Amino acid sequence: MTGEKITNVLILGSTGSIGKQALEVIDKHTEKFRVVGLAARDEVSLLAEQIEKYKPLAVAVSDDRACRQLKEIYKHKIAFMSGIEGLQEIASLPEADIVLIAVSGAIGILPTLAAIEANKKIALANKETLVAAGEIVMAKAYEKGILIIPVDSEHSAIFQCIKGEEKYLKNIWLTASGGPFRDFSREELEKVNPGMALRHPNWAMGPKITVDSATLMNKGLEVIEAYHLFGLDYDRIKVLVQKESIIHSMVELVDGSFLAHLGVPDMRIPIQYAFTYPERFESPAQNLDFATLASINFARPDTEKFPALALAYNAGRIGGTMPTVLNAANEVAVNCFLNGKIKFTAISSIVEEVMLKHRPEKEVDLDIIFNADDWARKMATELILSI
Ligand code: MG
Repeated sequence: MTGEKITNVLILGSTGSIGKQALEVIDKHTEKFRVVGLAARDEVSLLAEQIEKYKPLAVAVSDDRACRQLKEIYKHKIAFMSGIEGLQEIASLPEADIVLIAVSGAIGILPTLAAIEANKKIALANKETLVAAGEIVMAKAYEKGILIIPVDSEHSAIFQCIKGEEKYLKNIWLTASGGPFRDFSREELEKVNPGMALRHPNWAMGPKITVDSATLMNKGLEVIEAYHLFGLDYDRIKVLVQKESIIHSMVELVDGSFLAHLGVPDMRIPIQYAFTYPERFESPAQNLDFATLASINFARPDTEKFPALALAYNAGRIGGTMPTVLNAANEVAVNCFLNGKIKFTAISSIVEEVMLKHRPEKEVDLDIIFNADDWARKMATELILSI
């Protein structure tokens, strides 16, 4: 591999689940990738370890105090930035070729836009950015001629299956594991606690997305994400439960053919593909052993028991600020569930109530999006306090 250009990678959210797995991918291919920047919220000790190991040029930490602590240690060796401004600044770091957006939540909007503006290749692992501000982000990417490569496993799968078949596309099929409570009764769902919700059967992910997977909101957010990435009407974006998470998604073509992407459920595969696209290399993930795979099961998602999926379709179809509001209310509700303030089943109810109170605006710009996001967070917080 000598003589090949090294790709300079910047990771926003390096101490999170996707960030750590991205670093494992980079460790496997040190001759191809170099880490030029890291950004995290407040996990100082892990971030310090990463700084020691990868020696980045710049580091952004959202939390001011954490940033000062790190500055003390490294003094002038590294450029430190803090707050949301720091995230935006590091996202446009001149040395970076590709920016992995792996922060959690709508906080990803501004750094994603900054990276696009700076002509970086985007590996997008943050679906909330597209849910909350998809039109703005996609329009900016189009204007700048920037390819957004999805890291979300379903969208990576579709991105790969769709290639060359775009004009024959009939539907896309997002697969869902159904989460840990797929077979729970309504009564059992009432008793779900954070510890239970954080044990996903197939995927190793951060707490927010793991709870979203359990409510099926994750799949709902992915439907909206797919709408923006692939430009299909909501009627053509289907969801299918495939509980082993072996089929990562499928495209259905006009002649009745289905193209599916299969593999072990390991996020390092789609992360690496986003880094190496359009090429492929060996990955740190295991190979899929079909002989030991007993069966692959399919089922329709149960939107009665898991209303979040239907709420997301609804929000997507209404469009404008409604998906922003759905996402913001969900972020607040999930956080409160994780802190033991509300029941598992209240997450979807809160989101639904906030949506019912919202008067969506059709035409959006960044100010309108942030106002709607802010309004929805306050409304969700108020509703939770009144429970
Ligand atoms: Mg996914």
